[in-house]
Amino acid sequence: MIINPREVLSRTETASLYIHIPFCISRCSYCAFFSTVDDASLRRSYIERVIHELHALTCRDVPSIYIGGGDPSTLQLEELSGLLKALEPFSATAQEITIEMNPEGITHEKLHLLERSPVTRISMGIQSFDPMVRSLLTRRGTTNQVFSALDSVRRLTSLKLSADIITAVEGTDPSLTLRDLNVLIDHSTPEHISVYELDIEEGTDLEKQGSAPSEHDHLTPAWQLLHERGYDHYELSNFCLPGYHGIHNLRYWDLKPYIGIGCSAVSTIETDGRYVRVTGIHDVSRFISEGMDASTVEYIDPPTLFRELIMVSLRTRKGIPLERIAKEFGFDAAQAVKDHCSPLEGRGIMKGSALTQEGMLFINEVTVGFFELADSLDIKDLPKY
Ligand code: SF4
Repeated sequence: MIINPREVLSRTETASLYIHIPFCISRCSYCAFFSTVDDASLRRSYIERVIHELHALTCRDVPSIYIGGGDPSTLQLEELSGLLKALEPFSATAQEITIEMNPEGITHEKLHLLERSPVTRISMGIQSFDPMVRSLLTRRGTTNQVFSALDSVRRLTSLKLSADIITAVEGTDPSLTLRDLNVLIDHSTPEHISVYELDIEEGTDLEKQGSAPSEHDHLTPAWQLLHERGYDHYELSNFCLPGYHGIHNLRYWDLKPYIGIGCSAVSTIETDGRYVRVTGIHDVSRFISEGMDASTVEYIDPPTLFRELIMVSLRTRKGIPLERIAKEFGFDAAQAVKDHCSPLEGRGIMKGSALTQEGMLFINEVTVGFFELADSLDIKDLPKY
């Protein structure tokens, strides 16, 4: 049976909302996300299509909204204004509305617009203050532009600030990561910081150049510093000052329903006790002409859902939700997960069903172990399915 993506999305009354803006001024050397080099006429038509799709959405209970990319700061003032207007019907229930911006794309006019809108948070892709690292990552914008963008956000808006930092770039040692974090906190004290280890992904320029990440452990000292400076480590890569955790991403890691609008956006919703995924196509022109109709729809089978839940929940400090596993996959599955955690707890890698901070360093190995466990479980006959 062919299921219409729009019809599927109309089946949920509550869902977070993600808007994908697939344009970047230029491609960064490490980036494996889908995006295309900015083009004014494509961008205009794309935003018109996104607005059209938003008008068609029936879901009105939206706990959070996230405008991501690509680079949403490529949007011109009128485009951003049109998008924010189309988001108004969903904004009333949203506790958090975030927009990603790159420092060099931030203008005073855009910040004034955001300040007058229901947007609550800006997520800035800083990555590093170090000119050598910025050049290796082919990040646009100079270190001075980054400082100036941070100043403008703090001076002209009351938006909460989240900042991304990348560590373990080739040829660097942990002192550079610590310097980046100290400079960031001393300068702007963001409410939220995301720290990622550089991954050399297939097809990226860094992979083609044969670049290899730094062999030093950058994470342990970075985590220690953030702890000392008052940041709470609530998810593998995410830290916040007390009370400022990212609501939108926490919902992803809890596998709560979300709707993605855009050419590479994904939606996951629960309908009639089953999880359904709607996946966009990586094709800007087709999205402009066909919109959400070009997406594919699939039911997520219970073993896949089980693995996804383990994978995302292991990233969080709350850990694997045993009660939910018992409810959705049966008591035996929950008991098997608990039994699997015990020896890991003995080794200091887990505490209860959550990874310890030290255990976070081994998350990939631990996840594989849980996947092997999933293979040995019979989770097809679920009470829910
Ligand atoms: S890292 Fe961000 S700005 Fe750079 S190419 Fe990827 S999506 Fe675009």
